[in-house]
Amino acid sequence: MDQLQQVKAEQRKQKVKVLDEKTLTSIRRHYQRSGNRCLLLDYDGTLVPFSRIPSEAAPDNSVKDILSRLSADTRNHVAIISGRDLSSLDRWLGSLPVTLVAEHGASTRPRNGSWQQMVSVSDLWKDEIRRVMQAFVIRCAGSFIEEKTNTIAWHYRNTQTGLGFSRSRELLSTLSQLIQNTTLQVIDGNKVVEVRISGFDKGASALRIVGETDPDFVLCLGDDTTDEDMFKALEGEAYTIKVNNGASAAQYTILSQQQVLPLLNSLLVPVSSNTPTTEKV
Ligand SMILES: [Mg+2]
Repeated sequence: MDQLQQVKAEQRKQKVKVLDEKTLTSIRRHYQRSGNRCLLLDYDGTLVPFSRIPSEAAPDNSVKDILSRLSADTRNHVAIISGRDLSSLDRWLGSLPVTLVAEHGASTRPRNGSWQQMVSVSDLWKDEIRRVMQAFVIRCAGSFIEEKTNTIAWHYRNTQTGLGFSRSRELLSTLSQLIQNTTLQVIDGNKVVEVRISGFDKGASALRIVGETDPDFVLCLGDDTTDEDMFKALEGEAYTIKVNNGASAAQYTILSQQQVLPLLNSLLVPVSSNTPTTEKV
């Protein structure tokens, strides 16, 4: 990271504030006064806790309950914008009247429609990336590869901490060289190194959804590197909240995933019933 990037990262870090009770109350008040709202939610690490095994991160009843209550309100447009593959999202959340965005925007299912593929390309690029990642699986016990339509990822969440991290730095460097002058992109995520086809990201997906619905209230929550694309794209038009501490382009941060469902639930509780009378918005 060069000096300018370091300063920018530091500025972004300073800009982020922990979401306090007063700000939350004002967000809730805005939500309750609004007649056309858009809620853009990441899935893993945001709606559900980070799971050691990706396939075990199915939503529990409390997640499904809040999503169905929010989406039942005709003033709300709820969208789950995820890096997950289409089939997992469809299996877990397909019965809800919410927009589903899979693989950072590669596929989208509008809330009352069917799945649409945003890109269609050959899979040949995956062979070489897979070969490199397989060598790292051998060199790092507990790591594994996950393949989706437009991405291939090496997960190291179940490995010995120091070893997994240092191998991930090696892999990042190897892959970065390999994909030079291609339309591929390497992402250094949370305990995952991912290669995907560039040209779509969560930011573009979020903007498209907001553009289609023209809301007067937008809330966006996410926890990972790819969610930063949404926070940046929505700057000035949304309440952006990063889950977990750390540098972010989001306006606010909440310190734990466990605060997400209470926050979403609080939108549905009238502000006047539990607000200090001294507060001004
Ligand atoms: Mg996430």
